[in-house]
Amino acid sequence: MNTDQSDVIVVGAGALGASTALHLVKAGVENVVLVDKDGPGSGTSKAGAGFVGPLAAGWDAGWGRSELDVEYFSIDFYSDLATRHDIDFRHSGHLYIARDADAWKHVAKFHDTDTVPDSQLVEPDEIRAVTKGFLDGSSFHRAVFQPSAVQLSAGKAARAIAAEFATLGGRVESRRPVTGLIKIGNAVTGVETEHGPLYADKVVVAGGSWSNTILGGDYFLPQVPLVLSRMITEPLNVPANFPALNFAGYSDDGSGLLWVREDCGRLNWGMSYPDYPRDDLVDNPIPDRFDDIRLDGIFQVRRASQSLTHLMPGLATDKFWVAHGAPCLTPDRRALIGPIDERPGLYVVGGCNGVGIQHGPGWGKVAAEIVTGATPFVDARPWNANRFGGLYSTNRDVFLALSARSGPMTHV
Ligand SMILES: Cc1cc2nc3c(=O)[nH]c(=O)nc-3n(C[C@H](O)[C@H](O)[C@H](O)COP(=O)(O)OP(=O)(O)OC[C@H]3O[C@@H](n4cnc5c(N)ncnc54)[C@H](O)[C@@H]3O)c2cc1C
Repeated sequence: MNTDQSDVIVVGAGALGASTALHLVKAGVENVVLVDKDGPGSGTSKAGAGFVGPLAAGWDAGWGRSELDVEYFSIDFYSDLATRHDIDFRHSGHLYIARDADAWKHVAKFHDTDTVPDSQLVEPDEIRAVTKGFLDGSSFHRAVFQPSAVQLSAGKAARAIAAEFATLGGRVESRRPVTGLIKIGNAVTGVETEHGPLYADKVVVAGGSWSNTILGGDYFLPQVPLVLSRMITEPLNVPANFPALNFAGYSDDGSGLLWVREDCGRLNWGMSYPDYPRDDLVDNPIPDRFDDIRLDGIFQVRRASQSLTHLMPGLATDKFWVAHGAPCLTPDRRALIGPIDERPGLYVVGGCNGVGIQHGPGWGKVAAEIVTGATPFVDARPWNANRFGGLYSTNRDVFLALSARSGPMTHV
């Protein structure tokens, strides 16, 4: 028997691919290989800020029950994962804070007690108590608190998911770049790698912003990578007991969310910036690593966060680390999961829309269910990877469609 013959190959060990691989072995698929050009959690997942909460309450008007169901699934999934792995998991909720009445319209929609029953409205004089003394909220307009939300280290979480997969008998192939698909006619039967071919009955491409490179022009996945960055201070003894914070009303165009959270005694902060280099990768090849992304976006975040340094002096520091990633957005801001009709044997899980840490566990379970022919545990029809037909054939097409649709809060 050819030892490089598997049941399923998953290409890309980020939050989406690692989770798909894990749920495949949990579903009883015996021979699953998870291949990464670097290693688990080394791509955009490494840069994730680590917010995991019931976003479907207000993040995007097009989202529905399917997104909410995977969000609650993911919270339970990570709570369980944290019992076996150090992922800096914390069940301290998310607080959405409006700078002024204008910003409140971006925050108010998160208070939806139909979908998030424990959501609470918080008045300015209550913010200090909700943040356990961390933030004087008297100058803000109002806030929404979601106690059921959690936070974690995104890179550690992706690596822990891959480790669980390996513990259950899955095979992780790190530092094995996939260079193309192997096909017989239209059917995909494996992948070429820099270290020899791998064959499988089914191939799942979960390469994040590299997915279209991996697909090699064979098929265009309608998603566009948009740059996003986070910063982390040096250790400042920041207390670990306050909710992860999202501030509305601070970006140059007023619509982005500026996040701040505690991360191992440091501050982890960032914001979706509206300008360059957000669109740096739309018309350019995806670099092997994101280290060389220009820092213009960081300066935008710095400008925005200057207005908060009197409340959180740590944000004024000149000593910080930067990590960039490139979440992939789809024209309708919903994921892309399932088989590709034109290519038997080929599946995708992508279109993270900037929330792949949050949705990764649930999307991976759905992907595994589709690959194994089981009924998905949530309604996966909104994520049908073929739903756009051949409408989009370049990143720029998707970017233009997205820009036409974009309202406030849709940068990421
Ligand atoms: C600054 C920032 C903050 C964020 N904050 C949050 C947050 O708070 N909550 C949230 O839910 N989401 C957040 N996100 C989004 C989240 O990080 C992404 O949605 C998620 O990481 C995407 O995961 P992925 O598996 O699709 O991609 P990736 O993590 O990029 O994984 C793709 C993998 O494919 C591998 N690969 C690429 N090419 C090849 C090849 N040729 N051969 C083999 N392997 C290959 C890569 O090495 C990589 O490991 C944030 C993102 C950023 C950048």
